[in-house]
Amino acid sequence: MLKKMKLSLFNITNFKVDGGAMFGVIPKAIWSRAYPPDENNLINLSLRSLVVETGGHVILIDTGWGDKQDEKFFRHVNLNGGEGLIEGLKKRGYYPEDITDIFLTHMHADHCGGSVKRMSGSDKFELTFPKATCYISETQWNWAVKNNLREADSFLKENILPLGELGDLKLVNDEQELFPGFRVMICHGHTPGLMIPIIKYKGKTLVYTGDLMPTVAHIPLLWNMSYDIESLKTIEEKQKILNEALNNGYIFVFQHDEHIECCNLEMTPKGIRVSEKFRFSEIV
Ligand SMILES: [Zn+2]
Repeated sequence: MLKKMKLSLFNITNFKVDGGAMFGVIPKAIWSRAYPPDENNLINLSLRSLVVETGGHVILIDTGWGDKQDEKFFRHVNLNGGEGLIEGLKKRGYYPEDITDIFLTHMHADHCGGSVKRMSGSDKFELTFPKATCYISETQWNWAVKNNLREADSFLKENILPLGELGDLKLVNDEQELFPGFRVMICHGHTPGLMIPIIKYKGKTLVYTGDLMPTVAHIPLLWNMSYDIESLKTIEEKQKILNEALNNGYIFVFQHDEHIECCNLEMTPKGIRVSEKFRFSEIV
């Protein structure tokens, strides 16, 4: 018999980004009420990873920034708070060797950097999770390796190339149930081949919204990041999952919302909006 699924959510770190860039065409007078910025117009984001134990796998969803870049790079992103990747895992009883699979939603630096580390006393790289198979969508892998001017600041070769050279890389090429109770939606608006995990757990369905809807404030269809490569695709993809989630009572789990871990949805005269907000610990 399959062992019951076990889930753990933890925040690796917070970091800050320009509030305007996070809300695209929405005027500051409006977004700043929903997600207040600091005196430099920066907003603080979390960076939560989810560990899923299912069918003999221990799957880590996204690995954070890592620590390979220089001090200037990390000063620019204003790291603050959080538990750390390895420390956060350890607190929940996991050592790096225990992770059988890493699932990378996409290859932007804040999502995949922790998968590769520098060998101590050397310029060479090694894998942080030596026994893990690494899942990336085929579309995103090819896109990130090729790189482009728009995403070059976030597609860093030291985060990407070692996974292909040292890792057991599995490229996902269509939407499917990848592990028992763990299926994948593939999106293209934020970046081509963004994978969104949809997980069945104790009769509930959880959507780890990743960079499709980074915070609760990104639920309205037009509240999208300037970072998105194709806004119209993001809007269509949000519409699809929002409708499916509303009709089936799915729970959203946010990777980047500093304050809100989870929510469910309701229909309002303005469209689908957040209903109740709650902690992840209330559902596990
Ligand atoms: Zn991203």
